[in-house]
Amino acid sequence: MGPGGACWRGGGAGARRWLSSRASAPRVCVVGSGPAGFYTAQHLLKHHDLAQVDIYEKLPVPFGLVRFGVAPDHPEVKSYGAEDNRILGIPGENLPGVYSARAFVGWYNGLPENRDLNPDLSCETALILGHGNVALDIARILLSPLDLLRKTDITDCSLAALACSKVKRVWLAGRRGPLQVAFTIKELREMINLPGTQPVLNPADFTGLENAVKDAPRPRKRLTELMIKTALQKPGEMAAQAAAARQWGLKFQRSPQEVLPTADGRRARGVRMALTRLEGSGESAKAIPTGDVEELECGLVLSSIGYRSLPLDPAVPFDTQRGIIPNSMGRVEGAPGLYCSGWVKRGPTGVIITTMNDSFDTAQSVLEDLRGGMLDVSVSREGFGAVGSILRSRGVRPVSFSDWEKIDAAEVARGKAAGKPREKIVDPQEMLQLIGH
Ligand code: NAP
Repeated sequence: MGPGGACWRGGGAGARRWLSSRASAPRVCVVGSGPAGFYTAQHLLKHHDLAQVDIYEKLPVPFGLVRFGVAPDHPEVKSYGAEDNRILGIPGENLPGVYSARAFVGWYNGLPENRDLNPDLSCETALILGHGNVALDIARILLSPLDLLRKTDITDCSLAALACSKVKRVWLAGRRGPLQVAFTIKELREMINLPGTQPVLNPADFTGLENAVKDAPRPRKRLTELMIKTALQKPGEMAAQAAAARQWGLKFQRSPQEVLPTADGRRARGVRMALTRLEGSGESAKAIPTGDVEELECGLVLSSIGYRSLPLDPAVPFDTQRGIIPNSMGRVEGAPGLYCSGWVKRGPTGVIITTMNDSFDTAQSVLEDLRGGMLDVSVSREGFGAVGSILRSRGVRPVSFSDWEKIDAAEVARGKAAGKPREKIVDPQEMLQLIGH
């Protein structure tokens, strides 16, 4: 934890945690204040009368991806998390004009490390690689009417950049087909109904799919039917799209092969896509390159192919292949007393309710181990009492929950003037000044 780190006591939890305890009053240390942590703590505190929980967070503000991940126009689902993104591993990936979804989302959500991203939105066509909900979030933010965004907690600086954006066409490309898209129906419907925006889906991509999904699970069937219905709609048929100045569309069976540079090599001008055929069927179908390629011109490339957790500490086992801490029901393998929840436990998938249930399962494992005597409860531990002394001896001033409440109040007050729920402070130094550190 750096000088800007934070610690809260009492009720909350994070992604991973060590447990020490007195026979009667177990102390739980939670590292990370995202949704997984809070849900784990909630369950522990609810089902163990004496449990005490300390939550540690590296930033001066809590809530992880609830604050920094979820799209600003989705306040009702504020949640999901992991600290890195998967990389494409293709030539040109580092050219200016190419951004990871994680950085882009962090930018419009005021994540301090991404506040200076300053994405170049001077081109007309953007290509988003990936067919997940994050890809749809980004497409929506790029194409939303500013009046809708103004009422959200999107940062002022991203709002100003979006106001000058020239982007009017967004393609979302997936390496597999319509039956394998990872986004969900609510998010797709929202995109289809985005005012002033026209969906462009090619009916040929959906030939025969109505029959193919007849016996598919209901969510997949409904999602596919919505795509088919949209593809068959004539331009301008829906009220929301009358006189649409902006467009978005889905491209299937295209796997990114290379980001192409402009003639002067200074930035991205497009992406060469390998066309694919599907081997197998349903969710597990594999995309195999056919040998044919296609170049898609675009000045902005956003790679949205999933998040990835990072190793926490050399002492904590980590499966780099799967990007998770190896565990069984949240119990970290080979490390008694250490538990994990959230994306670091199961990988970067699922919505808030998935994380909630998953965190309750981990908390349940802790409670079972406490009751079953699996944890050493003979030694009393001081928890934050001890950690606080170490921090003081190193000259570190942690941010407390009441400090955060001051930051929160300041953000809400700043937002009020502009009719927003809050104006996030994006500079940690400014946060620390505000609380007198
Ligand atoms: P995701 O759902 O896992 O989607 C990742 C997409 O990237 C998939 O289409 C995947 O295709 C593609 N992909 C992965 N590796 C690739 C590669 N090497 N080359 C080309 N394409 C590749 O990830 P996400 O969109 O980041 O979302 C993460 C989780 O957060 C999901 O569970 C999502 O539902 C959730 N979320 C929810 C909301 C919401 O509730 N509104 C909003 C945002 C995110 P393949 O299927 O072929 O691998």
